[in-house]
Amino acid sequence: MTVVLVGDSGVGKTNLLSRFTRNEFNAESKSTIGVEFATRNLTIKGKTVRAQIWDTAGQERYRAITSVYYRGAVGALVVYDITKPETFENLQKWLDELKEHADPYVCIMIVGNKTDLRSVRAIQQEQGRLKAEEHKYSFIETSALDATNVGEAFNNLLVDIFKVQV
Ligand code: GDP
Repeated sequence: MTVVLVGDSGVGKTNLLSRFTRNEFNAESKSTIGVEFATRNLTIKGKTVRAQIWDTAGQERYRAITSVYYRGAVGALVVYDITKPETFENLQKWLDELKEHADPYVCIMIVGNKTDLRSVRAIQQEQGRLKAEEHKYSFIETSALDATNVGEAFNNLLVDIFKVQV
């Protein structure tokens, strides 16, 4: 079973995954340049799940392998940074890509990350919630830095996946 983490470079996909799997955060982790591929096995509610991050920084030349990447994914965390409006605006691009390439029944959760950066918040929680509601996707805000809702994000996605699969 595979879930994918997508979203613009620098939104915190790598740190959400490392917070969840190892309870680690890396303040130095530089946002991806070019293409990065990371795969990690997670155990959620007794099930082994493969989580993949694939970061292309939106490069057109990787479009051909995009469909391979999404194929077979049962869930997707689509991440934006609540302090960076352009990462919220780009959500639609990621959602379109999922719609085009992923299984029609893939469970999608929109994730607004970096809630610890309260003083520089640019996207209100309500905006994220409305965006998710518009598409009937789940929504959660997280902080990989202070660990807020990180477990919930992965666990809730899994609950949604099992609702679809059974
Ligand atoms: P990715 O490119 O989406 O995988 O993003 P990274 O996980 O590499 O994170 C990019 C940058 O944002 C790094 O400097 C992280 O330390 C930082 N970062 C990630 N998550 C959070 C968070 O929840 N809060 C804060 N304050 N910084 C974060």
